[in-house]
Amino acid sequence: MGAMRAVSLLFLAATWLFGQVQYDLLLRGGRVVDARNGINAVRDVAILDGKVAAVGTRIDPARALKTIDASGLYVTPGLIDIHVHVYTGTGEKASYAGDLSVPPDGFTFRSGVTTVADAGCSGWRNFEDFKDRIIDRSRTRVLAFLNIVGNGMRGGRFENNLADMESKPTAEMALKYKDTVVGVKTAHYTGPEWAPVERAVEAGEIARIPVMVDFGSDRPERTIGDLLAVKLRPGDIYTHAFSGLRHELGDDGRLNPALKAGRARGIFFDLGFGGGSFAWPVAAEAYKEGFSPDSISTDLHTASMNAAMKDMLNIMSAVMAAGAKVEDVIRQATWNPAREIRREDLGNLSVGAPADVAVLRLESGAFGYADMYGGRMKGDKRLVCELTLRAGKVVYDLNAMSREDWQGLPRGYRYQGDPKWDAISPARPRRPAAAPVSK
Ligand SMILES: [Zn+2]
Repeated sequence: MGAMRAVSLLFLAATWLFGQVQYDLLLRGGRVVDARNGINAVRDVAILDGKVAAVGTRIDPARALKTIDASGLYVTPGLIDIHVHVYTGTGEKASYAGDLSVPPDGFTFRSGVTTVADAGCSGWRNFEDFKDRIIDRSRTRVLAFLNIVGNGMRGGRFENNLADMESKPTAEMALKYKDTVVGVKTAHYTGPEWAPVERAVEAGEIARIPVMVDFGSDRPERTIGDLLAVKLRPGDIYTHAFSGLRHELGDDGRLNPALKAGRARGIFFDLGFGGGSFAWPVAAEAYKEGFSPDSISTDLHTASMNAAMKDMLNIMSAVMAAGAKVEDVIRQATWNPAREIRREDLGNLSVGAPADVAVLRLESGAFGYADMYGGRMKGDKRLVCELTLRAGKVVYDLNAMSREDWQGLPRGYRYQGDPKWDAISPARPRRPAAAPVSK
């Protein structure tokens, strides 16, 4: 142990003894946007044991083990993306319970996302495999909408099989894992029947959770008007709101009045950008008419990750180009989705809340945002993720803002962070020397 390090450890021990260090981590001087608590102002945020411990105008850095300067940046609750596809790793081709899904940790923290909800990749038959394979092994908090199809999103043959859409076993599985299953999903149905929506709502009724609808093929037998006015309950979620594939936009170029009527009834509207569900003619008109989505979500999967969608911050920036304010897109990516999935413990920075935090930079410049068809909207703002905390620990740090200059560190330095705030390169106990390799 170097002399400098020994001295600093002694100093830390002394401050602990005298009771000055109260927090593991302090984010100083950022603009905190916390819709739940009505905060949009420069604040310090202190964290202890993975939870928000204090939010105030000035918290003394001497009381924190580690301080990070967030001045000039936005400090927000960790973003919540309620429409992703992350049931990967099964090896199944052309299936969202397989190759079309992506591993959550590879996409979330780098864009400030700390919680995702998988939108129906699994149903009651394969949810436990999904849970074991992905949910329980990810650092991202992964929640799930259960597909009303027992086999989940394994392709058209499965997703159009009405016989595998059973409300009772779906609700039973949801109740068995009620900390993880936040809703029921119906999607991709091509037939004329209402049964998929009706059975999803039935399951939602039994388990007391919302239903998210991807309304599938456009069918005259089942209209968006009836869906939003009659079939769905207040609190249910209409995703792919700006696709234009199911008459979200009228022939007159105006927003279908059914959307505003649905909102008046309490239906939530989710963006669900995806590979083919966001068109500027619909979105720009919606913003012009003052109809922004309740929640912004990616519909992340292999066909959207490198296309127009890219990631959560890209689509938040895209709708800012259509007129949305930064405070609004942050609310629509934090507190609003938390409420939609009835997880009001998340999406806010209340004292005692999990310290899932995004630190974002709002850049000005010449940017562009494509829609699903390749139409471009110019923009002059872009949100970039600088730092992400999951349960109070740094899990992503774009510019190494939480780090010291290497030239100021002792010669032969090793892992620097304290495990109390650092999950990237925390100091670790010295391992015993490896045994010699035998020939
Ligand atoms: Zn989807």
